[in-house]
This record gives sequence, structure tokens and C-alpha cells, in this order.
Amino acid sequence: MATKHYDLIVVGLGIMGAATAWQASQKKASVLALEVGGPSHREGSSHGATRIFRQAYWEGKDYLQLLRLADAGWRELEHQSNIKLRASTGGIFIGPKSTSVVAGSLETARLGGIQHEHLSADDIRCKFPQFAVFSDMEAVFEPGAYPVFAEESRLQMLNEAVKNGAHLMYGIQVSEFITKHTNPIIKTMSREKISGSALVICAGAWTKDLLPELQSFIKPHWVPIHWFQPRPKSDTLFNETAFPVFLYEDKLGALLYGFPSGLSSERGVKIGFHNRQHVPWNPGQNPPDIKIFANEIANSIENIFPELYPNPRDSRWCIYTMSKDESFVIDKSKSHSKIFFASVCSGHGFKFAPAIGKIMTELGLGLALSADIAHFGISRFHSR
Ligand SMILES: Cc1cc2nc3c(=O)[nH]c(=O)nc-3n(C[C@H](O)[C@H](O)[C@H](O)COP(=O)(O)OP(=O)(O)OC[C@H]3O[C@@H](n4cnc5c(N)ncnc54)[C@H](O)[C@@H]3O)c2cc1C
Repeated sequence: MATKHYDLIVVGLGIMGAATAWQASQKKASVLALEVGGPSHREGSSHGATRIFRQAYWEGKDYLQLLRLADAGWRELEHQSNIKLRASTGGIFIGPKSTSVVAGSLETARLGGIQHEHLSADDIRCKFPQFAVFSDMEAVFEPGAYPVFAEESRLQMLNEAVKNGAHLMYGIQVSEFITKHTNPIIKTMSREKISGSALVICAGAWTKDLLPELQSFIKPHWVPIHWFQPRPKSDTLFNETAFPVFLYEDKLGALLYGFPSGLSSERGVKIGFHNRQHVPWNPGQNPPDIKIFANEIANSIENIFPELYPNPRDSRWCIYTMSKDESFVIDKSKSHSKIFFASVCSGHGFKFAPAIGKIMTELGLGLALSADIAHFGISRFHSR
């Protein structure tokens, strides 16, 4: 039987795979996208209602080009699908003056010409009384930051991809690649073989099993996310008209992030630690009992948000696929010049998905790249 062939095969339909399938389908390429789970499973990193989009990026200016591209991409997706996929909350990034969250956000905002306000502790208390701050704290407020409706956006990317002729297949586990021919070939667990002019691997935490060359650079972690209930009469303080998406770095370096309530059917104010409560993830293993993480976050909530009940009303697991330097790893595999990977995003990649999908499409189809991705290549680890 002849092996089926596509211009581009995408492996994994979390947000990176969905964005790649969507972007590639707009180039009139023949696209096949394969996912081991169902259309909206909760096993990987992309489930849940919301993710933060911000451009005053404390993580540095290297991300600016991709952020601009991604912002345009979210708007384009909203336009194509005719569905509201973002809310206009703005974003506030709070911390002690010299810390990376404040100093880094300010620097990137200035370099990138991103609209922002630099707030003193008194300004924060006055404009955003939901937050308790010390007098040595400052903030950057970015009015153009927003929450993205995450699950809805991912499904709309897939809808658009299907409308443009992409083939999506669920319940299909890709098990290995055959790399000895001009075109790489994927093999599925059911022994089917399909060839592609290019493969884009967006398998999240599972990427390291498909591409063993990445084993030593990637460490997936379980991370919990929690929901908190406002105290009586404080509901309106935390809804989307009053409460921005936020980052808050405390004096001990713990970095919390969160979202207003009422953006989705998830009940309460969604808050998590970005750099705490990480538990090493291994395929097939269950995470520990999530309740053991409640006390630590309750202490932080009590100190930062006096108008929230400190104990989480609900908590759920998600996965961060971390690289050694907490940045992205987007590159070509050394096993074949037409196999690319995009799914190592160290817990802050969702906002970039429309841009990363575009870049992966361009890499796969041999087109000129819309942004420079040299900072995200694997060679940076070899040269250290
Ligand atoms: C709690 C939490 C909060 C976050 N908040 C933000 C935020 O506010 N802003 C932000 O920008 N980012 C945020 N992130 C990070 C962001 O969500 C991730 O970077 C992003 O979702 C990663 O998507 P992915 O497609 O790479 O991986 P995944 O979503 O894990 O997708 C990988 C897919 O590949 C499939 N797969 C795996 N192996 C195979 C195989 N062999 N064959 C077929 N399919 C396979 C999996 O089933 C899965 O569906 C957050 C992450 C978490 C966990």
C-alpha cells in the first residue's frame, strides 16, 4: 500500500500544534495533524479557560518580535472566527523596585515602545486596592495586556484549520520517525506510516520521548493552579472591570500570577505560583495529592489579597515543559533536516502561539521567517 503524503505533519494538538495547523492551512499546504488524546483533553499544558498575554516582557527584549506577531495573530483569529477570544483588563506587574518583574518589564516596555505606566506603591494602593504592597514596591501597568480565552482559542484555531482543508486525527499516538529518506516518515502505534515534506513536533512534555536528543535539556514539571473566593461584598473588586491580569513578585522571590473572576465558568480568582510548587513529571506517573500545596499558597494569598479567602476553593494540575534557562527551545532536529520542534516553552508560551505556529509553518514549508528565532535554538546549550 502506498504511504500517504502531506506537505506538513503536525504531532500534538495542544496550543502549539493547533496554531501550527491553523497557520499552515492558510498557506494552502496539505496538512495532517495528529493528537493522541481527544479534542479537549486535560493531560498536557494547554487546557483551562485563560492565559495571560503581555508585551512589557520582564523576561527580556528577545521576545519582542514574537510578541508583536502573536498579538496580531490573536486579533486575526478573533476576526476569522468572529468570536470574542480576549478581555480588556490590562495587566499589572508588581514587585520590589529592583526585581526582574519590575525592572525587566520597564526595560522591555521602554525598548519596545509599549504603552505603560510606572506606578509607585501609593499609586498601586490607590488604583488597585486589591493588592497589599510594601512601600519599597513598584509596578508596571500595561493597559494593552489581556487574558486570552485559552481553550476556546485553541478550538477556534482547529475549526479554522479544518475549514481550510487540514486533516485532524485524534486518538493517534505517533511512536517514532523514520529519518533515512528525503521525506521524514512518522510511524503510529497502530503501525501506520505517513510521510511528510516536513514534520513539526508539538508534543509538549512528551517531546523528549519522541526526540531523545532533547532529553538532557528538558525537564517537565507538574504545577498546580488554584482558585480563590472573594470575601463577602468584595466580588466586584475582582471582576474583569476592576481587576487586571497580574504578576506579583514577593520579597522572597516567589512569583505569583493571576486572572480576574467571571471570565469563564471556572469559579473564583485564578492564581498560581510561576516559580514554586514544581514537581518533576514522568510519563504515566500520577502527581501527588494536590491538597498538600494549599497551605503555602494560602500564606501568600493572606499577605497579598486581604479581600480573598486564603484557602483555595479548587486546585488543578497542569504541566510546564521547562528548558534549562527557562526560555523556549524552537529548532530543527539533528535527526533530519525537515523535522522541527516547538513545544518547549517553560510555562510562558501560550501567549506566543499564533507567532510560533506561523514560524513553524514557515520553517516547514521553507518560507522566509517572519521573526528571528536564533535566541531559541538548541545550540545555546552546547556553547555553555
Ligand atoms: C497552569 C499554567 C498556567 C499557564 N499560564 C500561562 C500564561 O498565563 N501565559 C502564557 O503565555 N503561558 C502560560 N502557560 C504556558 C502554556 O500554557 C504552555 O506553554 C503551552 O500550553 C504549551 O503548549 P504545547 O502545545 O507546547 O503543549 P501541550 O498543551 O502539552 O500539547 C502537547 C500535545 O501533544 C500531544 N501528544 C504528546 N505526545 C504525542 C504523541 N506521541 N502523538 C500524538 N500526540 C501527542 C499531547 O496529548 C498534547 O495534547 C501556563 C501553563 C500552565 C500549566
